[in-house]
Amino acid sequence: MKYYRPMLLTPGPTPVPEEILHATQSPMVGHRSSDFETIAEEAFRALKPIFGAQNDVMILTSSGTSSLEASMLNIANPDDNIVIIVSGAFGNRFKQIAETYYENVHIFEVEWGKAVNVPEFIDFLKSLNTDITAVYSQYCETSTAVLHPVHELGHALKAYDESIYFIVDGVSCIGAVDVDLQRDQIDVLISGSQKAIMLPPGLAFVAYNNRAKERFSQVTTPRFYLDLNKYLKSLEANSTPFTPNVSLFRGVNAYAKLVEEEGLDQVIARHYAIRDALRKSLNSLGLDLLVQDEFASPTVTAFVPKSKEELNFIKNELKNRFAITIAGGQGHLKGEILRIGHMGQISPFDILQVVSALEILLTEFRKESYIGTAITQYMEVVKAYV
Ligand SMILES: *Cc1c(COP(=O)(O)O)cnc(C)c1O
Repeated sequence: MKYYRPMLLTPGPTPVPEEILHATQSPMVGHRSSDFETIAEEAFRALKPIFGAQNDVMILTSSGTSSLEASMLNIANPDDNIVIIVSGAFGNRFKQIAETYYENVHIFEVEWGKAVNVPEFIDFLKSLNTDITAVYSQYCETSTAVLHPVHELGHALKAYDESIYFIVDGVSCIGAVDVDLQRDQIDVLISGSQKAIMLPPGLAFVAYNNRAKERFSQVTTPRFYLDLNKYLKSLEANSTPFTPNVSLFRGVNAYAKLVEEEGLDQVIARHYAIRDALRKSLNSLGLDLLVQDEFASPTVTAFVPKSKEELNFIKNELKNRFAITIAGGQGHLKGEILRIGHMGQISPFDILQVVSALEILLTEFRKESYIGTAITQYMEVVKAYV
């Protein structure tokens, strides 16, 4: 059987809605023209509710990782002590960036698949017995599908030491979670375009509070393209310091319109409903979930097939026979888990396709019928949502 509509269910890049594709294909305008200023002004402002930010959101023409790097180079001075919570591949990325530029980097390791234990983390900070400038954490650690308790973490951190900057990597969940810089005590919240924000890859976003903005201007660490002061200065003139990806800026505005039409609360509720339905259905297929319910991300779900053979069969046959692409594990979880991305333009019924395909594949592979098993569980959850 041949399928003409491939499904991309990786945790980034994600499917791009027609409206966004269309917007990105409009004729080019000069980036130093009033045409672009109109586009940029709208884009900087449109992202504020998505990030729960009071200030306009900065937009960089570069992939998500650039915002991880920018959030260090503009917050920490060369001699500062910084702490990184490493719970997976993207925590490792923060660590690698930090070790490129800084000497005093402290790592708090979290078992992959688990969320950070906040009291234990605060004890760790105390044990360092030194002034900490900033703490870095993922919001969703995409490689394990964990959603860290960022709100709790922010509050505990500020209660411990108000002066610490709290930097959160929300690349794989902003656009699908309820976040608010002030409420959650986050100083800098970064993201990228190709995940829950459902744009093509190529933009990075930086949301910040006034305290962080002030800090950017005081930090002496060398940086050029990633000097956020340049972006802030340009932003005030509805512009960017370097040539922006004009097409993707238009995409941002088309994205914001889609969110406005659906309602941000509804967008978030849809992601959580899909998460809950998918988890229940995977369980009913005898597939273990990597992450416990409390910390399961609404944007990506990791599961553990019964054997390596079963894992490879699922991944390959989904692709070959159903044109469905899902992701494997990263780091030491490679070959151990599979991940289904369900963020951006995804309806509960889109994910029903992968659930029903899994029923067919496991029925074949295990020689035991699962037909109707998982989709029944799935629809029970979706019924309450629609
Ligand atoms: C994808 C991702 C990144 C990296 O983004 P790039 O666009 O690939 O540079 C960083 N952090 C998290 C949590 C991610 O999921």
